Amino acid sequence: MKYKSTRDGSIKINAADAIVKGISNEGGLFVPDSFPEITLDDIEGLSQMNYIDRAVEILSLFLTDFSDEQLVACVKGAYTDSFESDCVTEISALSDGRYMLELWHGPTCAFKDMALQLLPYLMTTSAKIVGNQNELIVLVATSGDTGKAALEGFKDVENTRIIVFYPVDGVSPMQKRQMTTQKGENVDVCAINGNFDDAQTAVKAIFTDKELAEKMKTQKMQFSSANSINWGRLVPQIVYYISAYADLVADKEIALGDRVNVCVPTGNFGNILAAYYAKKMGLPIEKLICASNKNKVLADFITSGVYDRNREFYETLSPSMDILISSNLERLLFDLSGEDDKLISKLYSSLKENGRFEINSQMMEKLQSEFYGGWCDDDAVKATIKESFEKYSYLLDTHTAVAVKVYDDYKKKTGDDRKTIVVSTASPYKFADSVYSALFGGDGGNDEFERIEKLEAVSGLEVPQALNELKQAVPRFNEVIEKEAVMEKVRRALNI
Ligand SMILES: *Cc1c(COP(=O)(O)O)cnc(C)c1O
Repeated sequence: MKYKSTRDGSIKINAADAIVKGISNEGGLFVPDSFPEITLDDIEGLSQMNYIDRAVEILSLFLTDFSDEQLVACVKGAYTDSFESDCVTEISALSDGRYMLELWHGPTCAFKDMALQLLPYLMTTSAKIVGNQNELIVLVATSGDTGKAALEGFKDVENTRIIVFYPVDGVSPMQKRQMTTQKGENVDVCAINGNFDDAQTAVKAIFTDKELAEKMKTQKMQFSSANSINWGRLVPQIVYYISAYADLVADKEIALGDRVNVCVPTGNFGNILAAYYAKKMGLPIEKLICASNKNKVLADFITSGVYDRNREFYETLSPSMDILISSNLERLLFDLSGEDDKLISKLYSSLKENGRFEINSQMMEKLQSEFYGGWCDDDAVKATIKESFEKYSYLLDTHTAVAVKVYDDYKKKTGDDRKTIVVSTASPYKFADSVYSALFGGDGGNDEFERIEKLEAVSGLEVPQALNELKQAVPRFNEVIEKEAVMEKVRRALNI
């Protein structure tokens, strides 16, 4: 199978090239040039398998230039022992036909692990396939979840190094603790005096610095990106939708062929796009419900057909969804336009120049037939966390609560009571401060672990070991630098 760019359909490359490159030279994103199909018989077969075997089956349809041995080694490396159970994901059935698909049982307790545990294997294997022997230097600017998940994924992976920058006051206390105590010989973590945008801008400048790139080459190094536009981060996410459906069939919650809705708390549009791709392959999905927080650029887009980032940016209780440019939407628009690369180039230069674009009525019709968009604010998030706990004794994190609220609104508005998979993207303990105050009011004092223990006592939900261990962990990375000093820091770390 070949991959083409959303902005230049004449480019055709293999999966390994797409994963090593990350983004196409003219700025487009790589997408498969055709989508493999899965039948109900295939799904029936998958329902008898464990997660690892399902992942190998599904990924082999997309990564056709990987050998069977390579693919099995990648998948086993990623999903054996690093998740709380061999199931990798868990499904909690609530009583009203909704199924919480928990994607946060990995090492960092957020759904980013599903892809970032696998990406380092896909990347190093891809480098081998294309004959690239350079050491891969992964640079990450993070507002919290991605940085930690990338660190856990790349730690001690041969021939790679990873350096993560985060805004010194822009991550939650638990996220900071997770990153500063990171283990591994090839990792580096550094705080910057500035916000997430400053970190991102500094890292982007380094990626595009030609002189530095030349120097790296002579040292047999090159930069690489772990962000969610890389095909190697998207493709692992298709697996869990198909796997969840297979689980529901195996558990007799649904009959093979029944159509279900999917509701996803959305930021960069990677997670929900994977659900759309699974549907395109033949998975019986009816409506894709896209849930936004107060940064509701996607909800507005789905209702109006106008994507407009010229608006105020809000810091919310669901920080991993605080985004005004949802990069992966480009892949959806490419598909909805009938793969019109010229049109996509035009839309995205308009976004760059004017901060907005509008799609035509044909695309709009397709968009609305597949997707529903809704949003809610922080007050609704807190009320939803409380209500869900009182009604189902089920603890939600602040991101998943957005999805639950938008799904409730959707159901009320449309009367659609079809069985629905609601995607749960983080452990509630990762955002314990907000969850605590939603349930009990007040902030519960200074000690985050006291709040966590109280939440555990009332809910009976066990605190993941990975978070409990942090209580005693000693920080290794305490450096804070000015935002102008990021380049110097990278040079120093790499000794160039
Ligand atoms: C990243 C993230 C999201 C948003 O996912 P996208 O793929 O960017 O849409 C939602 N919830 C949590 C907890 C996340 O870390």
